[in-house]
Amino acid sequence: MSELRQEAEAMAEQFSDHLEVDPAEIESRLENLVDEYRVPLEEARRSVTNSYLDDAGLDRDELAPGGATRVQVADIDEDEQWVDLRVTLVDLWEPRSDSIAQVGLLGDESGTIKFVAFETSDLPALSEGQSYALSNVVTDEYEGRYSVKLNRTTQITELDESIEVGDDADTVEGALVDIQSGSGLIKRCPEDDCTRVLQNGRCSEHGQVDGTFDLRIKGVLDDGETVTEVIFDREATEQLTGTTLEEAKDLAMDALDTTVVAEEMADDVLGRYYRVTGPTFGRYVLVDEFEEPGPVDVESALIEARSI
Ligand SMILES: [Zn+2]
Repeated sequence: MSELRQEAEAMAEQFSDHLEVDPAEIESRLENLVDEYRVPLEEARRSVTNSYLDDAGLDRDELAPGGATRVQVADIDEDEQWVDLRVTLVDLWEPRSDSIAQVGLLGDESGTIKFVAFETSDLPALSEGQSYALSNVVTDEYEGRYSVKLNRTTQITELDESIEVGDDADTVEGALVDIQSGSGLIKRCPEDDCTRVLQNGRCSEHGQVDGTFDLRIKGVLDDGETVTEVIFDREATEQLTGTTLEEAKDLAMDALDTTVVAEEMADDVLGRYYRVTGPTFGRYVLVDEFEEPGPVDVESALIEARSI
């Protein structure tokens, strides 16, 4: 859906209690102003809104502020719906494309959902841990998974209260059969609101920077039937390997090589059996907690199975 189309649908929704307006008509009026006359979108929006207000004999304040419906993230089960959310920013991820300003995980009492904000929408950056009221975000669906897209019409309000994030954690287990590249001692961009992992000292957004060290393990758990990719953040990695960030830095310093850290960690943990719990995103489970249940006792499992 084009941005003007999104805008048009949001506007049609705003008028829906008062006027029957076709989003396609709004879109073409916006298009005319924006593309033909180079009017800034915000102004075009105001002008088109005013003309519909005149048609309907309405005052601006009689319009619904957003027109989107307030929902909880777990209720999102339809594509291309305009919704309002009250959420906490749980996690920011590294954008895979230059067109994406921010991508990460939002949560409310009902669970968590991925969000994407695009560069073109020119929105203020959201910070991890902060709670927000987001109005006018659009739902999206990909391979059965839902996400929300922030857009130019999205209104972002910082909340003083903190929105509790519900537990929609998954538990998976298996032998840690692989540690992927980008594990061990990594460097992240130190710029405000940018936590991108550096490649050869470069941030894809900010170029050459003095990175800040971080630890993580991107691993693969295999239970014999399914493989699951999991990410241990710094805290979980320190707990898992018994190596702190400071020790990892010393190791790398001694070896004049950061890759030794991932290698040493692999020696410690590869092949061991873990049960991990955390929110799922896409193909990853983000590890909040883990335990090492020890090898499964095959014999007693069989005895139990026979007795059923
Ligand atoms: Zn950066």
